[in-house]
Amino acid sequence: MTRTPLIVANWKMNHGLDETIKFVAEISRSTLPDKVEVVLCPPYTSLHTLSVALGEGATIKAGAQNCHFEIKGAYTGEVSVEFLKELSCEYVIIGHSERRQYFKEDNKFLNKKLHCAIEAKLIPIYCIGELESERESGDTFNVIARQMQEGLAGLAKDQIGEMVFAYEPVWAIGTGKTATPEIAQEVHAFIRKWIATNFGTLYAELPRILYGGSVTPDNAGALIAQRDIDGALVGGASLSASNFLKIISVCR
Ligand code: PEP
Repeated sequence: MTRTPLIVANWKMNHGLDETIKFVAEISRSTLPDKVEVVLCPPYTSLHTLSVALGEGATIKAGAQNCHFEIKGAYTGEVSVEFLKELSCEYVIIGHSERRQYFKEDNKFLNKKLHCAIEAKLIPIYCIGELESERESGDTFNVIARQMQEGLAGLAKDQIGEMVFAYEPVWAIGTGKTATPEIAQEVHAFIRKWIATNFGTLYAELPRILYGGSVTPDNAGALIAQRDIDGALVGGASLSASNFLKIISVCR
């Protein structure tokens, strides 16, 4: 089974309209490797500009950083998956650790978002990962298993097969402390085994599992070379088009 590598930029609350246009202009001057999929996740307010700048049928796809769990209604300040689709989004990040930490989104709440995104035919990028204290106390696999169990409740095998997972150890996000390729591979293999046990071996081979946490042009190659690491979710290093292009180019 060969899964197409996927490199996702999470710009977080960075890059307004002008910076989005400049980024797309810069990245469009380079030829991307044939066998890689690239997704840019700007803030909601830059999504329309991004889609227009990328153009119709673009090889680079647009994604959102979050969504609501209902299609519409009285949820002031929230954004529906249907609106994201109108903006040509194909992907949506769900459960980023910053949503879990600052907005108190837990696994059961995220489960509702996963159902909503999948029903709307958006591809969710479900983020999971342990805190530093959880790793130190030897709880990493328990935490990941709980995030999988509660987050994926009620989803069908074929829906799991179409998802993307992102293992993002919280201690590595924005800290410059990357997990070693061996540590990351160990957790990715655990995630795939967990899917095999709960949904069947065939379905475990299908989803792409990305690594995220201080990925840079220097460490991306060794991480993506691991058997169960199918790409990267990149925060800080995705803000510069030239750094992001270097990370994409390790997939050649
Ligand atoms: C992220 O925001 O998902 C992330 C991994 O950030 P960084 O690459 O900056 O650690």
